[in-house]
Amino acid sequence: MNSVSVIKGHIVFTDSASEFTIIENGYIVSENGSIIDVCDSLPEKYHGIDVTDYGDSLIIPGFYDLHNHAGQYLQCGTGMNKELLDWLQDYTYKLEKDLADPEYAHRVYSRYVEDLCKYGTLGACAFATSSTVGTECLFEEFKKIGIRGFVGKVNMDCNAPDFIIEEAQKSLEGTRYLVEKYKDEPLVRPIITPRFAPTSTREALKMLGEMAVANGLPVQSHLSENRAEIEWVRELFPEYANYASVYAGNQLFGDTPTLMAHGVYLTEEEVEMCRNGNVYLVHCPDSNINVRSGIAPVKEFLNRGLKVGLGSDIAGGHKIQMNEAIVRAVQSSKILAVDKPDAQLSLSEAFYMATVTGGGFFGRMGKLKRDYQLDALVIDDDPLYKERYSLEDRLEKFLYIGDDRWIAARYVGGKLLKPG
Ligand SMILES: [Zn+2]
Repeated sequence: MNSVSVIKGHIVFTDSASEFTIIENGYIVSENGSIIDVCDSLPEKYHGIDVTDYGDSLIIPGFYDLHNHAGQYLQCGTGMNKELLDWLQDYTYKLEKDLADPEYAHRVYSRYVEDLCKYGTLGACAFATSSTVGTECLFEEFKKIGIRGFVGKVNMDCNAPDFIIEEAQKSLEGTRYLVEKYKDEPLVRPIITPRFAPTSTREALKMLGEMAVANGLPVQSHLSENRAEIEWVRELFPEYANYASVYAGNQLFGDTPTLMAHGVYLTEEEVEMCRNGNVYLVHCPDSNINVRSGIAPVKEFLNRGLKVGLGSDIAGGHKIQMNEAIVRAVQSSKILAVDKPDAQLSLSEAFYMATVTGGGFFGRMGKLKRDYQLDALVIDDDPLYKERYSLEDRLEKFLYIGDDRWIAARYVGGKLLKPG
């Protein structure tokens, strides 16, 4: 029984996307990091075990950011007057080049993982840069901080400045090295990461797909973010019926678990392709607004059975906080709902995307119930809110106006992380 531990507080999570599940003054019992019981009174068999009592605080699942660019972290909040393709050329690539220097990479990436953790993101899928050495630094920073991660060296071998692309073979060699080195890590693992179709040759896409399938590795990339980008893909790959097929034709679309960021302008055929159980669309509302891409019809995707997670997409998105991404997802859906009332996302749906769907990419995470990993945040909000509002209101308040000062504790796999 030594490995059994108990925490107590007001438990709030989404078992289904349609509503919050609330257990007032509940207990979460975990063993070796896995939840074995959640109850409103502690069964006798657990008496005698120390209870960490969080009193009147909320206990909620941690957040999972399914799409962001660690290599752009310093860029957050700059270049926001540009559209996607100019933004990459004028700002992003130069910064990513500098992250090939390991000393600089450690400085930037340590701040990035600290901030993820600080704001309650307990799992993140990250694009590093095309530098193998730089990407290695990001793996190490994830290991040091103790949150979950999928880290990708960005594969690009054409259509970007020379200082940031590599020959296809060399790019693949770097990825292979990182896969071998980190594939058995418990918390941070490699993910195959072609930046997006336009910056890969046919040869590179084919080899990346083969590597993903041969090693059972997940894949992350971008899909149908912006109209100019879609047109470019059509010109570059005329032999494919649509953007998604460029990936699908190279075993990079659901042959292994796959994250596709954005999907703002999917065709009917592409929506059907996304119903493959291994494909997760990642909605990144801040980014879609900032680089003037558009608003993805997320509610429609959910109604049609697609899996849709949530991403900060820093630095297209300007903030790394996932509570803000949840709010922005609701807000952008309300803009669509002006003309189409059915398009509106509820807060519980957006929360579900950031916790349960996001956590599902990592394993059994995102719910506070039996057989899930204990990945959780303790929210200690203002006493004035506590006395006046319901537990659901208090969660809503945290999501809308809270920040790291409200997060009193973070658990990953049952382990209490040191305070940020
Ligand atoms: Zn992105």
